[in-house]
Amino acid sequence: MRSIVLSGPMASGKTTVGRALAAKLSLPFVDTDEVLVAKAGVSSVAEIWNREGEARFRAREAEIARELLTDPAPKVIAFGGGTVTRKDTRRLALSRALVVTLRARPATTLARVGEHLATRPNLNLGDPAERAQDLLNERAAAYAECHGSFATDDQTVDDLVDEIAALALRDPVVVPLGERTYTIDLCVDDPRALSLAIAELGPSSILMVTDSNVARHRKDARKAATASLAIREHDVILPPGEEQKTMTSVAAIWDAALGANVDRDTVVVAYGGGVVGDMAGFAAATLLRGVRFVQAPTTLLSMVDASVGGKTGFDHPTGKNLIGAFWQPSAVVIDLAHLTTLPPRQAISGFAEIVKIALSHDEALFATLEQKVEALLTGDYEVLMPIVRRAIELKAEVVMNDEREGGSRAILNLGHTVGHALESFGEYNRWLHGEAIALGMVAELRAAEALGLAKEAPTKRLAALLHKFHLPTDLDARSLTRATTRNERETPSHFRW
Ligand code: NAD
Repeated sequence: MRSIVLSGPMASGKTTVGRALAAKLSLPFVDTDEVLVAKAGVSSVAEIWNREGEARFRAREAEIARELLTDPAPKVIAFGGGTVTRKDTRRLALSRALVVTLRARPATTLARVGEHLATRPNLNLGDPAERAQDLLNERAAAYAECHGSFATDDQTVDDLVDEIAALALRDPVVVPLGERTYTIDLCVDDPRALSLAIAELGPSSILMVTDSNVARHRKDARKAATASLAIREHDVILPPGEEQKTMTSVAAIWDAALGANVDRDTVVVAYGGGVVGDMAGFAAATLLRGVRFVQAPTTLLSMVDASVGGKTGFDHPTGKNLIGAFWQPSAVVIDLAHLTTLPPRQAISGFAEIVKIALSHDEALFATLEQKVEALLTGDYEVLMPIVRRAIELKAEVVMNDEREGGSRAILNLGHTVGHALESFGEYNRWLHGEAIALGMVAELRAAEALGLAKEAPTKRLAALLHKFHLPTDLDARSLTRATTRNERETPSHFRW
């Protein structure tokens, strides 16, 4: 278990809830304010603040937070109200701990602080009610970067403790993007995870977008996810495949939505592979100038790549993904059980994107893939789950640092320049996306070698790993001169999912 950090405005209940949570989970409890006071040898945080000023106070606080977060022993940590306003501290907490924001209305804060206003130096700078509201506004983006957020105004401590303990059990991955932050839940055969994610958004209605293959194969899981919600639902079932990633399909989503009189509180659920996810996301970005959407990826490729990061769009006759928008989902729910019905060739295609992110970001993950190929091809979920999770964490980190691909995010396009050209050349039915990316990565590394920008060894290692996954690494004359059907590529005989 990781440490749990409780953050949020002053008097939101961090210490009270933190102590009760630590007791329930049998973990030690640490309050950064108490450590600060003890280390400085003073009687209150107000004393340090008044004596040294806010900047020095924040630096002391950051140092303590760093010490606590880099200590591997799990604990419950209550932060000060402003601790997460420092980006380095906030990002460290998000990478090392489960960060929970406890919210409270300004009126609640003032009522709880009561006559102890003098001990709250930051609230004393002017009218306390206005100051409490100003602080909330200033810190809204920092507080939004968390794994979960709970209002404490009208909740009992016991209920809050139960909810936070349940969140810790879910242990989602977070994509921290200020007020566009969202979490990614991972589970196996648990449709309730998606129900919960949708329910948390409190939608007026659900627009469920899927394709005909997924509608057939995942019918029971999909129905189970929304049956308990008692929310009006409209289904859009699109024809499957990359050839259908067109404006005509997107228009079918718009038409269904507007025909059903959706409003701005509607939530679009993208229930399918990357093709459904990209188009449903784009429809959500453009419907009524933008409604929220949830990604429920059903292919390996969309779980580890397409559902995370907010790139949405569709293909144009002149090229792939040429029309689109950045529009982040409000939540992503990955249920590995969807993979049981995925055709083997599609599953293998997904490994290409895992190899890509391992190659560009994590040599240890690359080595794990080399060691575990056989187990992965036989559909061992226990081996697959941490690999999917790691791939997502890496993608989340890239997106967090460059949401709109101004620079560093372009690394995720490794293999895609050649890959997209091949997909277009093959009229989107000769190579699957992952297969084209496998070919693209090898081609681009070889080009880098020829230009003296890369060594030969990594290319060989990459090609060997892709080969073990039964992914293509070389174009043969046959695949260039005539359309191979999708079934023509063999499936390894030991493939069992
Ligand atoms: P896909 O969506 O076409 O799905 C592959 C096939 O599997 C389809 O025929 C689908 O009907 C079927 N299928 C899906 N889930 C199934 C299940 N559980 N059981 C049975 N059949 C199932 O393809 P994909 O590989 O998921 O995604 C490829 C697309 O993703 C490409 O268009 C690519 O451009 C896009 N992509 C987007 C991003 C991004 O950041 N937005 C990243 C990578 C890829």
